Amino acid sequence: MAKKTNNHQEHCVFCGRSQDEVELLITTENAAICSDCAEAAYSAVREVLHPAGSNIKSNGHIEGDFSLKKPREMFDFMSQYVIGQDAAKKVLAVAVYNHYKRIENKDHGLIEKSNILLVGPTGTGKTLLARTIAKMLNVPFAIVDATILTEAGYVGEDVESILTRLLQDADYNVEKAERGIVFIDEIDKIARKSDNPSITRDVSGEGVQQALLKIIEGSIVNVPPQGGRKHPEQQMIAVNTDNILFICGGAFEGIERHIAHRLNTQVVGYEAQKKRALIDKDNMIQYVAPQDLRAYGLIPEIIGRLPVITHLNALDRNTLRAILTEPKDSIVKQYTELFRLDGIELEIKDDVLDFIVDKAIEFKLGARGLRSICETMMMDAMFEAPTSKKKKFVVDLAYAKEKVEQSALYMAAQVVKDND
Ligand code: ADP
Repeated sequence: MAKKTNNHQEHCVFCGRSQDEVELLITTENAAICSDCAEAAYSAVREVLHPAGSNIKSNGHIEGDFSLKKPREMFDFMSQYVIGQDAAKKVLAVAVYNHYKRIENKDHGLIEKSNILLVGPTGTGKTLLARTIAKMLNVPFAIVDATILTEAGYVGEDVESILTRLLQDADYNVEKAERGIVFIDEIDKIARKSDNPSITRDVSGEGVQQALLKIIEGSIVNVPPQGGRKHPEQQMIAVNTDNILFICGGAFEGIERHIAHRLNTQVVGYEAQKKRALIDKDNMIQYVAPQDLRAYGLIPEIIGRLPVITHLNALDRNTLRAILTEPKDSIVKQYTELFRLDGIELEIKDDVLDFIVDKAIEFKLGARGLRSICETMMMDAMFEAPTSKKKKFVVDLAYAKEKVEQSALYMAAQVVKDND
């Protein structure tokens, strides 16, 4: 550490004490700070940048369970970013809370890991939920698509590559990665072919499921730090997956058939008939159970390792409308901020927002479509506005219609509609 140098800075700029009055005086050409003030400054920085609510210590450990949000707080946090999907939020909050309590409890042999399966149509917020949880906990997070995974020896990525991404997100801090969250999307696409006609891949889904099982169930896995097989010489890093939380997601298209079949055959008799009458046939996904997943083609061992199952609902018009404006980082808020940074006030009229929702529904694009429609609508404005002298930009319905209806996106959607 630099001690006193031959410059004239012989007093701490904060407390004014001299070299003789302090334990250590750290100096540069223009200033000096004593060890006491340096320590105080360091505490102040930590307090601001890593407040008590932040769970991760500098060494990557999660602080004691006091800083882990309670399920209700987690629910509220998720609600800032994810609209609706209350059932999934609740189940996730409890599962995540239990998971991290299990980690914090040294004798966690008693409590089993609660990996989670989210079942619901594409674009309904499965990835967003997982990402939001990781953001809240401030733990490393990786998203992988199950369809790119293959068994060792086939073209594609080995399952170990899942952990490569987690390691990368943890800046190769293994300890930190070992407490991270992995979201495996499209797990339904590696279901066994026999019961799932949509699968066209040659590589048997069952083999990939077996390979995944090894990682999900908790074991020491040798991970290639650069991923892939391009670097055969790379030194493997051993990662213990015991405390990694796996959240799997899938649309499981057509699973309603299995659910209905089970509900119909399971229940017989008068009482059962009455119960059956209560079943909401328009939203069968909410009754999804392990048996249905098995019928769909997931192997029992994988299902056993995903003990927490919950569902997400298709997004209705009101939810889509709310997604445009309500989340903390909503699309509209983002555009407003982009314009504000150029000193321009942006106003998007209410009927424009309704129009965007209409188009997202018409194009069958769901929530993902909201952004692409907005991008299309705002492109010219974002191109011109920064060089114009205008201090306010108003998007009204006529402008929105003109921009969207002359776009390539619109043409493409028309072609899809004509082919339907
Ligand atoms: P999934 O993983 O279910 O296919 P995503 O979570 O990737 O869907 O959602 C796609 C995008 O749609 C998200 O980035 C988000 O902008 C938006 N979105 C979807 N569902 C919701 C929701 N319930 N609340 C807020 N935004 C949502």
